[in-house]
Amino acid sequence: MGKFENKVVIVTGAGQGAGKKLAIRFYEEGAVVGLLDLNGQNLDAVVREVNPDTGRFLTYAVDVSDNRQVTSAIDDIGKRFGRIDILINNAGVLHKGMIESSTDTHMKLMVDVNLMGPMYCTHASVPYMKENGGNIINVSSILATFPNTGSGAYGAAKAGMIVLTKVWAAELAPYKIRVNCYAPGVLNTPMAEDVIKNRAESKLCQIPLRRFGETDDAFDLVSFFCSDQASYITGQTIGLDGGIWATQTPTAAW
Ligand code: ADP
Repeated sequence: MGKFENKVVIVTGAGQGAGKKLAIRFYEEGAVVGLLDLNGQNLDAVVREVNPDTGRFLTYAVDVSDNRQVTSAIDDIGKRFGRIDILINNAGVLHKGMIESSTDTHMKLMVDVNLMGPMYCTHASVPYMKENGGNIINVSSILATFPNTGSGAYGAAKAGMIVLTKVWAAELAPYKIRVNCYAPGVLNTPMAEDVIKNRAESKLCQIPLRRFGETDDAFDLVSFFCSDQASYITGQTIGLDGGIWATQTPTAAW
């Protein structure tokens, strides 16, 4: 028996990186998984790689910043299986830019994908979670807890996830829906490719555990949040960062 047998799980941003790993690990643990991503080709590649039972591994090429697309995909999953147990608001995009050089398009993209996207996904999922309870996992960032130049719009959107986690936890508690969040430092994903390839040494010396995070670390935390062992935990954001948050390291280097 897998740990998440018969659970219905939605992972956004499942085409690569942490989202892809989360989707695969939930599937391996017996869940029905709905994978949402802007990049349909990457979703097709994940299906080719996993060669899953497509009855419980469903892909949707969806822009999470488009409420209509989100609702249509989530309604499809909710209606097919009659419930949604777990939503992981993982899709994200990071473009750096100081305020003076940021364009309207750039600023909007950071907020629309990283903040509005989770709101749309959560709004669409809750009706399918209310009857049985469930878990919503949000993804913040070290750039929310340690703001840095050039990442204002992204960091503000990700800081918003910490607030939404608390508010949704309180609002949805009556339905036994728990809402928790993690704030990654540097995870070994395409988003951190440049850092890991070109600045590994200077970054590692700022991480007390002296390694980058792996996508399996994300699954371990998410799987704990969604387990009965965490049944009294809601509204929390935990750093998944090898100790950066604990050290209060000055942020200039991030
Ligand atoms: P991470 O470190 O979070 O894994 P990645 O950049 O590797 O970061 O993965 C983020 C995922 O989110 C990618 O698969 C990307 O296609 C997806 N994504 C980005 N923007 C959107 C969007 N607007 N709608 C849906 N998925 C998106």
